[in-house]
Amino acid sequence: MTTEKVVEIQNISMNYHTLEGETLAISDLSFDVYKGEIIVIVGPSGCGKSTALSTISGLIKPSSGKVLINGQEVNGTNKSIGYMFQKDHLFEWRTILNNVLIGLEIQDKLHDETKKKAERLLEIYGLADFKNYYPSQLSGGMRQRVALIRTLAVEPDILLLDEPFSALDYQTRLSVADEIGSILKKEKKTAIMVTHDISEAISIADRVVVLTKRPASVKSIHEIELTLDVQRTPLTSREAPEFRHYFNTIWKELDIHVK
Ligand code: ADP
Ligand code: MG
Repeated sequence: MTTEKVVEIQNISMNYHTLEGETLAISDLSFDVYKGEIIVIVGPSGCGKSTALSTISGLIKPSSGKVLINGQEVNGTNKSIGYMFQKDHLFEWRTILNNVLIGLEIQDKLHDETKKKAERLLEIYGLADFKNYYPSQLSGGMRQRVALIRTLAVEPDILLLDEPFSALDYQTRLSVADEIGSILKKEKKTAIMVTHDISEAISIADRVVVLTKRPASVKSIHEIELTLDVQRTPLTSREAPEFRHYFNTIWKELDIHVK
């Protein structure tokens, strides 16, 4: 990790206006993200996490404040950002390879070299044998990997991941999170991920950003430092002696009451 800031979120607020009235989703949210860092955002349900990612991506414009990417103010969507949504959004009528290539097609960057790179990503991540299959023939975990490879194929510098594992059952989620966390580190990506799972957050993050309840602002930021004899991956992280301490602290901060 470096001290180079790639994302700067500066005092953003977001007020949605609808026919039913106004909803203040975010209020004075600020934090920075450094190059190569994985930031995981946790916060109560409905507090404004997806809204925060959408403003960073440029899909929605904050009511006030600004987001800088590599020092430039975000104004509309940006090719250096890859956005992976909660659902995998694979096209059922396209083969796995053609799903992976769609971002390149849209950006008019589909040629021999980029296609080879996409095929190589499928190979590295164990999906080469499935490239002519259709999404319905794959497991949930494999589909999620395809969605990530599709996002990586256009070579974004920054990845935004909105609850990428929430559609998976617990066992699958553990192994897919382990793979995807390792892929992000291997590809040296800067990533901002949202999850509602505290353990998942600690296992993947370099820093965990805890948000307040709506309207979201930063409640606290935890730098995750784990003592491990083996290389850190999302799975091995869970064995670290500090893990439980982070869990208890963040749990208390989230203040989740069963009512
Ligand atoms: P989270 O991802 O943390 O669950 P969201 O960012 O999706 O929360 O939503 C935050 C608040 O903003 C919620 O009260 C939600 O109903 C509202 N909201 C989200 N998107 C819209 C929208 N497009 N129009 C109006 N209100 C919205
Ligand atoms: Mg959400």
